[in-house]
Amino acid sequence: MAFDFLQRGTGNNKRFTDVDDNALRQCNHVITDICARCEKEVESWEHIWSCSENSKSEYDVLIDTLIEIENKYNTPEEEVNYKIIRTLAKEIVTFMMAPSTILILGNQKRSREVTRELFNDGLYKICNDKSERRIIEEVWGKFYLKVRQEIWLDRCNKINEIEKSKSITKLDKKRNVQFCR
Ligand SMILES: [Zn+2]
Repeated sequence: MAFDFLQRGTGNNKRFTDVDDNALRQCNHVITDICARCEKEVESWEHIWSCSENSKSEYDVLIDTLIEIENKYNTPEEEVNYKIIRTLAKEIVTFMMAPSTILILGNQKRSREVTRELFNDGLYKICNDKSERRIIEEVWGKFYLKVRQEIWLDRCNKINEIEKSKSITKLDKKRNVQFCR
């Protein structure tokens, strides 16, 4: 199921849809689809998340997400939520790091489903009540935004820098495309 609560937020909560993805692909990938960062593999959607040049893995981002939420609730007023996140954290990690049964290409983990905006209903199975479900949804939403920011947007920035350093102007790109045809 696709989750839509992110759209209720501010402009910062913009989803990275396939349209955005394609637009970015078109302006970044001109002559070859080889990853401009590692220059080793074709930059498939899967490669974006596992490129050796990524400064963080999805696992790192998930742990950071849980720590952030834990810290947020670490106050006397939020004791209940703090206990919930402390109790659920380990199970969330175990769940998200297990193999995905939805993404069938390669050996992908459930955490990768987030990059496809898929909320895995199985997460609810580790919850006992409404408050726990709410925390799970919060973790998912924050994880999604952080994955987008720290892996996807980080990748886009790096590619822009690489292209700038190679001084590829828009005009050159056009010429190259035509030349390659
Ligand atoms: Zn790469």
